[in-house]
Amino acid sequence: MDRVSIETRLVHCGEIDDPSKGIVPPLYPATTYERAGDGSYPGTYVYSRMDSPAFEKPERLLRSLESGSDALLFSSGMAAGSALLQALRTGDRIVAPRSMYWGFRNWIQQFTADFGIDLAFYANDDMGELEALFREKPANLLLIETPANPTWEITDIAAAADVAHRHGALVAVDSTVASPVLSQPLVLGADIVLHSATKYLNGHSDVIAGVLVTRENTPYWERVRVARTNGGAVLGAFESWLLLRGMRTLFVRVKAASENALAIARALENHAEVSHVSYPGLPSHPGHEVAKKQMKGGFGGMLSVRFKKGGEKARAVAAKLRVFKRATSLGSVESLVEHRASVEGAGSLCPDDLLRFSIGIEPVDDLLDDLNQAIDLRTED
Ligand SMILES: *Cc1c(COP(=O)(O)O)cnc(C)c1O
Repeated sequence: MDRVSIETRLVHCGEIDDPSKGIVPPLYPATTYERAGDGSYPGTYVYSRMDSPAFEKPERLLRSLESGSDALLFSSGMAAGSALLQALRTGDRIVAPRSMYWGFRNWIQQFTADFGIDLAFYANDDMGELEALFREKPANLLLIETPANPTWEITDIAAAADVAHRHGALVAVDSTVASPVLSQPLVLGADIVLHSATKYLNGHSDVIAGVLVTRENTPYWERVRVARTNGGAVLGAFESWLLLRGMRTLFVRVKAASENALAIARALENHAEVSHVSYPGLPSHPGHEVAKKQMKGGFGGMLSVRFKKGGEKARAVAAKLRVFKRATSLGSVESLVEHRASVEGAGSLCPDDLLRFSIGIEPVDDLLDDLNQAIDLRTED
């Protein structure tokens, strides 16, 4: 059984122990579990804020997916990230990338200021700056996000982890955009991997969830677990069940989205109205060589496009798209477009002329036709 590939285990929803022999797992809504007369728990579970078969089943698959020793599901990606912060102590230091998911970046800034945690930023691909930051002052935690929202800068996970480990810090990688299909941060040397499971892992825009997977059980990881149990940000039973269903098709979805994204990036790179396409799969991307090394089987479904005529053109293109839905989020089967600068608002580091695309699994010609009509802004027939 152990020799079955993780892809097959995902397709089969993991190991199902249903007495009715259902081909998919049952839903586990129980919040509490019965004790035997002697006070013991024959089913091992006690109370569903601590442990539950509902989230343990997907956790087991996620642990295998990332080659880790333990996984914890959370009620959102942000809750998973928050647990990483809550496990730090006043006086600790965290080193984070300058370019990263805007919501988490803002939260880190506020949290560290409120709780007396030191915070330093490094340019995502500058290992010299990273080394200098660690020399200046020891840190407890290095955060990496690669590819990083919304410009898809690439950080060399192995090189950055080496810097952090030489200085005694733990390394956590937000690998949401790469997904476990394309990248294995724990194998590359990271200690903890974070996913917004809302994105590729679930993949259908119908579950908010987050997960952390650790390579080893460390005292820091135990603090993360305590933060989840007592903070209470556990994943609900139905969301856990939907996540199991979503993950059945993870590998085919990510591969299809990656193929579509590469074709679209290549087509748009030469478009007369486009000044720049940021996609790690293009040789013009500054992180392409590192991406080739640490992303296997594709470069993901996320790309950003900048327009020669500026922000107004970008917004007009977004308004004209019909197959692409105008919505935030990423990693689902349907293609989405977003003008990030207006979403992020004041303080955004995102250029105004940039559109962010989450490429889905629709036939690529439908997506290319839609982009062509929107970019040329031809009038409707
Ligand atoms: C969406 C996202 C998050 C936050 O996850 P939620 O599930 O929305 O809380 C964190 N990191 C990245 C890279 C994301 O895209």
